[in-house]
Amino acid sequence: MVSTRAKEALVSLEDDLGGRAVLVETLHFANLDPRGVEFVRQAGSLGMQAVPLATLCRQCNISPYEIIKLHREGALNRGQTIAYTRAAEAMNAIMDDLIDKAVDHEVDCPRCDGTGELKNKAVCPDCTHGKRFIGADPKAQTKLLDIMQLGRKAGLNVGIVNKFDGSGGGFFDEFVKASDKATRNLQTEPAVDGQVVS
Ligand SMILES: [Zn+2]
Repeated sequence: MVSTRAKEALVSLEDDLGGRAVLVETLHFANLDPRGVEFVRQAGSLGMQAVPLATLCRQCNISPYEIIKLHREGALNRGQTIAYTRAAEAMNAIMDDLIDKAVDHEVDCPRCDGTGELKNKAVCPDCTHGKRFIGADPKAQTKLLDIMQLGRKAGLNVGIVNKFDGSGGGFFDEFVKASDKATRNLQTEPAVDGQVVS
């Protein structure tokens, strides 16, 4: 039984989030059990748009509290995925920079902009053919070795890979499983979409 207060809370949640489509999209990122998958399927189907969420809750035997909890979980998972991706991108740039500094390398000479000659066509006294040799930075080498050791000890590499490749049982894995299941349900039970439920 869904109380009037719970019904109103769900209507207001739906409005606050910007509509049912947004709610359903976010729920896809939560760890859904079969009832949750069914709820998302029904709430997302075109024929059910006029059916109140509280009614769908009752039909799927799922409480409004669970929907609110799943929505929070989905929003958090989605946000974390974006944050992880951005952090990984930033990490690549930081590591590239660190690796460059940790080995001997050449840079364009700042005095002649890498041309090897000054404005008056004289040979630049600060470089060789526009390049300057930069020796490996021992601090960068130490830092790089620390990071690699740390990663090995804490199993960081394994953890990060598992989060994204779907083999670690993380939320992404669950999301893929739930989506597959929802797709199968849609294929085997097409009649529900046309039903009018009040
Ligand atoms: Zn120069």
